[in-house]
Order: sequence, then structure tokens, then C-alpha cells
Amino acid sequence: MDKIKMTTPLVEMDGDEMTRILWKMIKEELLLPHIDLRTEYYDLGLEHRNETDDQVTVDAAMATKKYKVAVKCATITPNAARMDEYSLKEMWKSPNGTIRAILDGTVFRAPIVVKGIEPCVKNWQKPITIARHAYGDVYKGSEMKIPGAGRVELVYTAADGTQTKELVHEFDGPGIVQGMHNINKSIESFARSCFTFALDTKQDLWFATKDTISKKYDHTFKDIFQEIYDAEYDEKFQAAGIEYFYTLIDDAVARVMKSKGGFIWACKNYDGDVMSDMISSAFGSLAMMTSVLVSPEGYYEYEAAHGTVQRHYYKHLKGEETSTNSVATIFAWTGALRKRGELDGNKALMEFADRLEKATVDTIESGKMTKDLALITTIRKPTVLNSEDFIKAIAKRL
Ligand code: NAP
Ligand code: MG
Repeated sequence: MDKIKMTTPLVEMDGDEMTRILWKMIKEELLLPHIDLRTEYYDLGLEHRNETDDQVTVDAAMATKKYKVAVKCATITPNAARMDEYSLKEMWKSPNGTIRAILDGTVFRAPIVVKGIEPCVKNWQKPITIARHAYGDVYKGSEMKIPGAGRVELVYTAADGTQTKELVHEFDGPGIVQGMHNINKSIESFARSCFTFALDTKQDLWFATKDTISKKYDHTFKDIFQEIYDAEYDEKFQAAGIEYFYTLIDDAVARVMKSKGGFIWACKNYDGDVMSDMISSAFGSLAMMTSVLVSPEGYYEYEAAHGTVQRHYYKHLKGEETSTNSVATIFAWTGALRKRGELDGNKALMEFADRLEKATVDTIESGKMTKDLALITTIRKPTVLNSEDFIKAIAKRL
């Protein structure tokens, strides 16, 4: 059989530890036998980031702007322990942060739903995709402890020196205060990424804030979303048969619990931080969660939501057997291949992505899975496979 041809390369970002091992197996067992794989390869493994003074991360992000689609392996974000372990010149920043700063995107996280791994919320039949705004609010806040009586004000000094003040509180004893901000440009690009991704995946988009209480701050989020929707997306949504739905955050939470799933939930920074952990744990496992960075210009970077699975890697280095779940990393590849196919009009590539996802899901539903899933499955007497045999079982089915 002829291999599937690609007309444009994907940007391939290799990574670290156990996921780097899985990366190689996935390519060799699942992709290279079927596709004339064309990638522009960037090694984001920590050693190479250190050698290139992290230039490789910037280059990989720039290449994503050029080719529009990237697939990324999990990478180590250095901390003090990693400084010694890898003799680093510097504590390099999180590659995901660097890439996001260059592409200016929003991260969408969606669970991979399979029979036998049942969500805790029994009416969730379809995945719920969380979109988290990743700029500002409490994450870039400034805070003060107020030692005693006194007045706290917000002061805005315009470029011409004129000042506007707003009383925060007249303290009559000790307390605390917090100042936070956001910028319209960031909210606008968040909104566009969400609308774009909803159209892409043909799912309804929900957005919620606390605009009844926060009449300027949260209300601005609501207004910006609505203005952009009305001006740029209303007709496209109607044509696609999908809906943009705004409600209060507490109403959204209540409705999410009662829903069947199958929509995108756009969240402000803090809400997204909290709710994405709820959604992922309720759906089963971080190893079954995909993640895609979508820029407002339409660049896509696919990855797994989990990290490099360090503990398994150390076992692997000692020659012990591991049973690491490769599903989210496989789905990062299929997401990127499908998008590449879509942009290039390459139907064969899109169909391959569908078949590989189906083979993966079917393998698990037939009872063959890694240990993390075997511990939570409702399938009786599952067969627990090691990292390599699980990928080989998928390859056989494919
Ligand atoms: P992690 O790699 O997500 O793993 C945490 C634990 O979750 C694992 O020890 C394992 O539990 C379980 N797990 C996660 N993925 C799994 C999989 N595919 N199969 C089976 N079990 C899985 O998080 P971490 O250990 O805190 O972080 C390790 C490194 O990853 C860090 O250096 C961090 O900087 C990096 N990281 C990178 C990204 C990214 O590139 N996007 C994201 C997060 C973290 P058991 O040990 O109990 O089996
Ligand atoms: Mg969190």
C-alpha cells in the first residue's frame, strides 16, 4: 500500500523524559508505516534548550507561525532540582509560556471519552472543552497587607498627567487589598480564539462571568465577547448551526453539571484554572486529556495536557517496565495531522487521523489498556499492557 503523502510539513517539537520515549514509539509504530511524514523537527528536550540558550523554543514557535500547525511533546519546566540534574546555564522559562507569548493563543483542553472510563457526572455523554483565558486578573495582581486604619484608592494617571481616583475602602483596622488588571486586546484575542475554535469543532460556545457584581471589570469581558460575536461571527455560527451562549458564572456551573456535554466552556483566567481541574478529574484522568493552543490568527499547536511523567521515566532508566498511557500524545498527533489535512485539502491525512483515533479508542474498549486506566475502568478483567505493548496493540488494530 502506498503511504499517505503530505504537501506541507508539520512543526514537530520533541520533548523530555517518558513522553520523549513514547514520542519515538508513536512515530515508529503508528505514523511512519502509513504516512510519508513531513515535519520540521525542533528538539525542545531540556538539554538542547540549554545548548541553544532556549533559542530552539523561539524558533519552533516562529516555525508554527509559518506552517500554522505544530505538535508538541511534553517538556520539563526547569526548577531548582532540574538546574543540578541537567547542569543548566539558566532556569529556562516554561516552553509553553514562551510559545504562547509568541503565538498569543488560548489553550483548549478536552477529555478523550471512551466506554469503560465513565465520567463521575453520569449525564456527561460528550466531552466538555475548557478554554482558559491565560492573561492577567489575579495572576498578575498586586496585593498589600493593610496594617491599620487608612484609605485605599485606585489611581489612574493618564499620559497627560490627569488623575482619576476610585475609593477601594476606608479601613478602620488591619485588612488586605488586591489590585488587578486586564487589557482589551488580550480579551479580544481570547474571544476570537474561542469563536474560531467553536466553528472549527462545530460545538456551541459558553461564556460566563460575574458581570452583575463586577459591573465594569467582568462586564467588559461580556461586552467585548458580544461585540466581536455580533460583528464577525453571528452569521458563521448560524450557518454552522451552533450557538454562542452567555450567562452568569454560577448559572453556568449549575448548567454544566446538568448538561450532556459536547460544548466549549470559555472561562476567565481563575475560573479556567479551577474548572479545568474539576472537568479533567471528573472525566477520569489527566492522561486522557488533550490540549490545543489556538491563536486568533489561526495557528494551532497540539499537545497532551499531562507532563513528562518523570516518575515513570526514572523506572524506565532503571530498566524496569512502565505502563505509561500514550493516548493524549497520540491524540496530539492526530489533532495536528487532521488540521494539516484540513488546511491542505488532504483528505487521506484527515481520514488517517480518524482511523488512528478510532483504533486507539477501540483498543481500550476491547479491554487492553495501561495501568492508570485499568485502575479506574468499569470493564471487567482488563488486560494491563506496558507502554510499548499498548502502542503495538493499537498498531495492530490500525
Ligand atoms: P506529570 O508528568 O503530568 O505526572 C504526574 C503523575 O500523573 C505521574 O507521576 C503519573 O502518576 C500520572 N500521569 C501523568 N501522565 C500520565 C500518563 N500519560 N500515563 C500514566 N500516568 C500519568 O506531572 P509531574 O510529574 O508533576 O511533572 C513532570 C514534568 O512535566 C515536570 O518537569 C513539569 O515541568 C513537566 N510538565 C510539562 C507540561 C507540558 O509540557 N505541557 C505540563 C505539566 C508538567 P503515577 O506516578 O501515580 O503513575
Ligand atoms: Mg489549576
